[in-house]
Amino acid sequence: MRSKRSPNGSVSAWLLFAAVTLLCMAAVRPGTAAAEEARFARARAAMVRVIAADVVETIAYIGADRLDPAVMKAMGAVPRHRFVPERFIERAYRNTPLPIGHGQTISQPYIVALMSNLLALSPGDRVLEVGTGSGYQAAVLAEMGMAVYSIEIIRALAEAAEARLQAEGYGGVRLTIGDGYFGWQAHAPFDAVIVTAASDHIPPPLLSQLKNGGRMVIPVGGRFAVQQLVLVEKGSDGRLSTRQILPVRFVPLTRRP
Ligand code: SAH
Repeated sequence: MRSKRSPNGSVSAWLLFAAVTLLCMAAVRPGTAAAEEARFARARAAMVRVIAADVVETIAYIGADRLDPAVMKAMGAVPRHRFVPERFIERAYRNTPLPIGHGQTISQPYIVALMSNLLALSPGDRVLEVGTGSGYQAAVLAEMGMAVYSIEIIRALAEAAEARLQAEGYGGVRLTIGDGYFGWQAHAPFDAVIVTAASDHIPPPLLSQLKNGGRMVIPVGGRFAVQQLVLVEKGSDGRLSTRQILPVRFVPLTRRP
């Protein structure tokens, strides 16, 4: 007579248990992909805490002791380690800029957060970025639910950013190669414009492609001079006002096609 719990059934249950246990161990074993992602996620959370502390320290410049929670949430979500060159991956969550090749840099996370915050965005806003670079700033804006249009002048960077944005689930970001000084007339006007390279003046085409009531952030100043991060507000009557936020150092806006 067969017992109620068949020996075979017990053996399969044990095998199943052992297999699941092994799979779980493999998933968190140091060095595995899942363990690496968990480690980067912890580093990213720590980076967000550092940004929050920096905001408090710079309260005199930015006039607030915290940033929009939507900005901080996006900073906590976008995998910056996928936007930096492989050799800098262990430094991806430090609050510093990093080289991305071609003499360009991915901006410091605090600056990315601050610039995103200064735009005072609402989900669905159309944002023009000049200087795609690694694609990280574009990904942060897309993560916040914005319709992002980004222009990059260096073809190799634009192509790498496009592949990266696709792979990370930000395929909705619209990219083009060209001189961002002239904006992107075909998709104008924009609710906001973010320029991530320094110019000695505010490009007039970017001002004209900004909607009334819109905002622009741009580092203004020469290559070797101290630049100022400038917030431009375009009133409902089209009138412009500017405010210097804080000194910054960006790569220059270049003018080659
Ligand atoms: N936002 C980027 C940082 C970019 S660094 C990021 O998140 O990684 C500035 C970028 O602006 C560089 O990639 C540089 O090639 C680009 N750039 C410089 N001049 C430009 C111009 N006139 N038009 C478009 N892009 C420009």
